[in-house]
Amino acid sequence: MTKTAHHNAGLAARDLSVVWHPCTQMKDHEQLPMIPIRRGEGVWLEDFDGKRYLDAISSWWVNLFGHCNPHINAALKTQLDTLEHAIFAGFTHETAIELSEQLGKLTPPGLERCFYADNGSSAVEVALKMSFHYWLNQGQKQKTKFITLENSYHGETLGALAVGNVELYRDTYGPLLMDTIQVPSPDCYRREAGESCADYSERLFRHMEQALERHSHEVCAVIVEPLVQCAGSMRMYDPVYLTLLREACDRHGVHLIADEVAVGFGRTGTLFACEQAAVSPDFLCLSKGLTGGYLPLSVVVTTDPVYQAFYDDYRNMTAFLHSHSYTGNALACRAALATLELFEQNDTLAHNRTLADSMARATQHFRDHPNVAEVRQTGMILAVELVQDRASRQPFPWQERRGLRVYRYGLANGMLLRPLGNVVYFMPPYVITEAEIAHMTRVAWEGIQLAVSG
Ligand SMILES: *Cc1c(COP(=O)(O)O)cnc(C)c1O
Repeated sequence: MTKTAHHNAGLAARDLSVVWHPCTQMKDHEQLPMIPIRRGEGVWLEDFDGKRYLDAISSWWVNLFGHCNPHINAALKTQLDTLEHAIFAGFTHETAIELSEQLGKLTPPGLERCFYADNGSSAVEVALKMSFHYWLNQGQKQKTKFITLENSYHGETLGALAVGNVELYRDTYGPLLMDTIQVPSPDCYRREAGESCADYSERLFRHMEQALERHSHEVCAVIVEPLVQCAGSMRMYDPVYLTLLREACDRHGVHLIADEVAVGFGRTGTLFACEQAAVSPDFLCLSKGLTGGYLPLSVVVTTDPVYQAFYDDYRNMTAFLHSHSYTGNALACRAALATLELFEQNDTLAHNRTLADSMARATQHFRDHPNVAEVRQTGMILAVELVQDRASRQPFPWQERRGLRVYRYGLANGMLLRPLGNVVYFMPPYVITEAEIAHMTRVAWEGIQLAVSG
């Protein structure tokens, strides 16, 4: 082993010779340093040169209670000495049973049956297949399509990609994707001057109503990201849209799939975003924060009527056909249970309201910046939309990669910000302090100043 192997440069060089990273043009790393992380603690990640970075984006929205959280660590150590994993067909274990009981209690009314997978995209695949198969079991073979919102993101496997609508992915992988029915997003960034977000979201619902009127006979389900289209630049909409959608889905005989992979577990202010519209979906997809950011696990929570549509004598061949090798992994389920314990012990949702207010106050002055078109916030998600010109909302040409300048400035100053295009956002772990919020927003402000000049 070379002398530099345990410093950033040595590890980065080894990495770049063998690893292919996600969501990355690897050639960028000719200019941009790869950062090897040695340890984590709370909101901080520390690299091999001893430099610390505040994880303002919760390591891609998964971390809730900080890195190396003592409570989750302890729970996992105990689980590790008991059971790491066991086949989940024909066999079960107490950790998964307890987690399912908890999720049945915590999720919106009527959701009581848990089907596990190991990442968000797979949960979306499960929900899509389950909805389709439900209708098939009901003799409704003509129902094969899904309605989705423009600008939506549901993951990157082919089924999940098909119901998503991020332009770059569509342009690239379009020929491989099933057809979907796309409806304009209720995204409040697009509201008229003087129009409220609620009015806009409600007004945009007529497109959904029309699509349902026209297509309900061939549609299995509508899939949405409740309240925040996270990967689609943190665009937000009003809960009224979900209330209208639930009512319309019932009226038209179509399922509602709520993809709360990103917004679940307190990000929007409530434990689940659907609560703000007082609706229960037919399928609730959860992942990311489910294990507190520790281990890959996802779950689709569904209703008894859906479950019953598959429950029959074997010879009738109505069983659901889906499995992953690591379904119901015991360590992952333990991390999830420990995470839920932390919500209760710390009265996290109440604490988050205080943190969300601090984030709002700390970014108050961003609203007046000539290159900021909007500062928007839903609970613990706060986003700043950078534009070339505030009045016309003319975006910066994407080729200029202004967001990347913010990223670089952040890294240089011990801050992990990872703008989505020209949208700088904060989605920190819930253990962030007031002082760290002040620091986080100050570095972002300086990064933005730098990014928009010249
Ligand atoms: C991240 C995300 C997914 C995909 O989850 P993976 O674990 O990355 O596959 C699906 N839906 C939404 C809304 C997401 O934000």
